[in-house]
Amino acid sequence: MELAAAFKPLVDLVLPPRCPGCGVLVEDDMQFCGDCWSKLRFISDPACTSCGKPFAQGRDEDLVCAECLANPPLHDGIKAVVLYDDLSRSIVLRLKHGGKIGLARLVAKHLARHLPDDLSNVVLVPVPLHRWRLWRRGFNQSILIARALAAGRGLPVETDVLRRTRATPPLKGMTRKQRGIAVRGVFDVPASHRGRIAGRHVLLVDDVYTTGATANACVRLLKKAGAARVTIFCWARVLREGDEADTP
Ligand SMILES: [Zn+2]
Ligand SMILES: [Zn+2]
Repeated sequence: MELAAAFKPLVDLVLPPRCPGCGVLVEDDMQFCGDCWSKLRFISDPACTSCGKPFAQGRDEDLVCAECLANPPLHDGIKAVVLYDDLSRSIVLRLKHGGKIGLARLVAKHLARHLPDDLSNVVLVPVPLHRWRLWRRGFNQSILIARALAAGRGLPVETDVLRRTRATPPLKGMTRKQRGIAVRGVFDVPASHRGRIAGRHVLLVDDVYTTGATANACVRLLKKAGAARVTIFCWARVLREGDEADTP
């Protein structure tokens, strides 16, 4: 067992690269096959400058969607690479259960284009896993993505600023209000760690943004702890149940 673990990185290097979407052989590491590449729904501009929700093509940029105008979100933007669907979900599952550091690097490569121009005040904070889940899985995929994003850029990754005090209950089927209540008290920021994010631009890193309940609970705490800005960075996101893009 221990021996196998020790040899694993070597075996990974020797194995031919496979598409992280479907598993077919591809030419290079960190590459999707043509089929998956064409099926992944990449989020592109124009998009709402506040929530990142894509607009139908042909709309001006630098616009805020009607929903954000009516209800300005607490966060300072959601940056996602692709829309959440079966394919992007299977990639997350591979990242979670296959222990693929290379996949985290691939996600980070695509997320990097959303990094702000001025990185001097940026600090990366991954969404923590509950320790029971961490123990079972052995790693936190959000930390892997955050570290891959920070690598070579000298960005700090703070893994103990945001703590999870208990596991999040299953949120599926709950109303927005119920989800907000369910995640209350799930996270905290220890007073001794506030100095690490006070006045900083926090990039909150997660694998997927689905209902937003978890991410927004984190945003609220980080801002309360003094973060100047909090932008959510994730691989895939759900827009809202049932809608694809905002039509003008
Ligand atoms: Zn593929
Ligand atoms: Zn918006």
